[in-house]
Amino acid sequence: MRELIDCHIHTHCCGHATGSVEEMVAAAGAVGLTGVVFSEHLPLPDDLDPLGDLAPSAEAFADYAARVRSAANVAAPDAIRANGKPMIMLGAEADWLPWRLQDTERQLAIARGAGVQVLLGSVHFLDGWAFDNPASLDEWERRDVDEVWRAYFERWCDAARSGLFDVMAHPDLPKKFGHRPTFDAKPLYREAACAAAEGGVFVEVSTAGLRKPVGELYPGPELLAAFAEAGVGVTVGSDAHAPSEVGFKIAETYTVITKAGYERAAFPLGSGKARWVAL
Ligand code: ZN
Ligand code: FE
Ligand code: FE
Ligand code: ZN
Repeated sequence: MRELIDCHIHTHCCGHATGSVEEMVAAAGAVGLTGVVFSEHLPLPDDLDPLGDLAPSAEAFADYAARVRSAANVAAPDAIRANGKPMIMLGAEADWLPWRLQDTERQLAIARGAGVQVLLGSVHFLDGWAFDNPASLDEWERRDVDEVWRAYFERWCDAARSGLFDVMAHPDLPKKFGHRPTFDAKPLYREAACAAAEGGVFVEVSTAGLRKPVGELYPGPELLAAFAEAGVGVTVGSDAHAPSEVGFKIAETYTVITKAGYERAAFPLGSGKARWVAL
């Protein structure tokens, strides 16, 4: 049986997604997924989430974790369930906030307290600016795109080397709305691949970019090639924010990854471990 995995799934508890844990699991079963990682956002401080729609409250996150745990076969985490339901991991998506690392640490403490098995690391903020939030799109007009790209990758590399995360999510996120650097980004890509290899993290190949203005996987072809050359393991995820997005274009993405030289993808089990899935 060919395994189909989706290692990045949200639920309605974050305030900007639809679908309960149970609805996402049903959607995963319906599209034939054999493994899923739930990866809800971790609670953010109020000043970074003033409308309360970027991340769940601590209470909502605890409820999410309890629901994922009860949906998952935590007793046999290495076994694919024989009844046609996907293997479920409890994960979370943390924010790398290097100018206030105590808030990243607070997120990780919440994750630990909730029994989270798999941690995704994301750079969504450049200082206080949530550059991938459509509500903050105006700010791009005031910024130098080249500087945004350099600042983003500097932070991304620090996060990858930090040892805090199992998987680095959507690696070239600044391209989301089509903003591209004027310089050749290959040196940044080589640096990112080096950081991921040194940090011992997996990197996510995210199909979410295919649904955004950029219309391209995160990472794009050159960055994916750099990861492949550096021997960095990849996961595959949809970043689903609705049941209809669960498993989005995962099978097609296997083909892309294979062409980049990969023969297998990682289904992360936490603590650097993975079940390897043939592509
Ligand atoms: Zn989200
Ligand atoms: Fe994200
Ligand atoms: Fe996400
Ligand atoms: Zn995400």
